[in-house]
Amino acid sequence: MDAHTLPPHDKAQLTHELLNQEYKRLKLEPRRSHMHELISTMLSHRTNHKDEEKAYHTMLERFGDWEGIMKADFDALADAIQTTRYPEQKVPQIQQTLRMIKEERGEINIDFLEDMPVDEALNWLTKLPGVGLKTATLVLLFNFKKPVMPVDTHVFRISQRVGLIGAKATANKAHAILLEMLPQEPVELYNFHKHMLRHGQRICTFFSPKCEECVLNSICNYYQDVRQKGIDKAA
Ligand code: SF4
Repeated sequence: MDAHTLPPHDKAQLTHELLNQEYKRLKLEPRRSHMHELISTMLSHRTNHKDEEKAYHTMLERFGDWEGIMKADFDALADAIQTTRYPEQKVPQIQQTLRMIKEERGEINIDFLEDMPVDEALNWLTKLPGVGLKTATLVLLFNFKKPVMPVDTHVFRISQRVGLIGAKATANKAHAILLEMLPQEPVELYNFHKHMLRHGQRICTFFSPKCEECVLNSICNYYQDVRQKGIDKAA
């Protein structure tokens, strides 16, 4: 049997193994505080890391703390986060999120998620304005070490090209499908996510994937069914 015709479950295991060999294994340690991760992930929507960081630090410098940001004037906060895309959308989402956390928990702090079961924590986070499944899973995996799979654009694209998920799967469905096929230890899910991200930036890029250099090409539907046949025809 050709490797690329293997069932998705086997391909998911192989993808994880091959990327583990290709990229450095990472420890799962929170890179920033829980609230920092939540709000920065909201700021990062369609924004590069440098501009997201700039917005985050400018916001805190100008308004002092979460309370100050929550009560800030709309235009002043939009100006502080102007390095991000769509600041006018992000201002109400961030302020409302801070208000909802304060109203419900009595303080602007999400440490309580540590003790909450995964599904409950996902439900709680995704009720916050501007917090979708991707942001919620990132916070829960990166900071609380819960077994979830953040599906960003790179994870989604590579999963579809290799054939781990179907052509019609949505990003939300991909979360459940991938999670079911991968090892459940949070550190494994974290490495899978980070390695797919790196691979998507370096090799399996959106416009011109470097399939000939790719460690996944023997199991990849796109390469075996589309790309290689195109190359063969051209030869
Ligand atoms: S073989 Fe090509 S399409 Fe498939 S994962 Fe690698 S780079 Fe992406």
